[in-house]
Amino acid sequence: MIIKSAVFTVSNTKISKLPAPDMPEYAFIGRSNVGKSSLINMITGVKGLAKTSQKPGKTQLINHFLINESWYIVDLPGYGYAKSSKSNRLEWAKFIRHYLDKRENLQCVFVLIDSRLEPQKIDIEFCCSLGERGIPFILVFTKADKQNRSKSAQAMEQFKKALLAYFEEVPQMILTSAENGTGKDEVLTLVDDINQR
Ligand code: GDP
Repeated sequence: MIIKSAVFTVSNTKISKLPAPDMPEYAFIGRSNVGKSSLINMITGVKGLAKTSQKPGKTQLINHFLINESWYIVDLPGYGYAKSSKSNRLEWAKFIRHYLDKRENLQCVFVLIDSRLEPQKIDIEFCCSLGERGIPFILVFTKADKQNRSKSAQAMEQFKKALLAYFEEVPQMILTSAENGTGKDEVLTLVDDINQR
């Protein structure tokens, strides 16, 4: 798929004010600092579309970006910021649960995982919460350029093993780098395939 247009549509603090669910949407989420904004900018080819390195733990926003006037990328607030308070974390969980349960046009969630880390409990837990809801998700490993391919392959394999303690099958995994564009075509082909179903 070629991205012809990528336009910021709206920022929301309230699920009730999200855009009408009249186009397919794909949500991106992960631990804060995992590289979500950078990935969204890389995929769309628009620098600064999603803001990078915003102070985490601030207002929780859901940002919609309209792509090719036909589908949405949704930038969900990240999780796992070490300094966020318990009440912030609870608020995040409620907000995300509400979004996941209500959003009828949500096709798939891209769960971002830092390819340099061992499997993190918080990521596995988030995957489980999607599994329990029956929401399809794809694992997107970020920052591939920061290490050699075999290290990334090892991290992906480890994550797969960790997930197999909870799932019978693991979802598709895509290795990406916002720095050199690795994985862009794979992500967009997947979206294309789902949109054409
Ligand atoms: P977010 O909090 O998940 O939106 O993460 P950001 O996109 O703001 O990225 C966090 C930090 O990681 C920033 O300093 C980025 O420049 C850096 N970063 C993100 N993706 C990559 C990547 O693919 N390669 C490299 N080398 N750095 C990255």
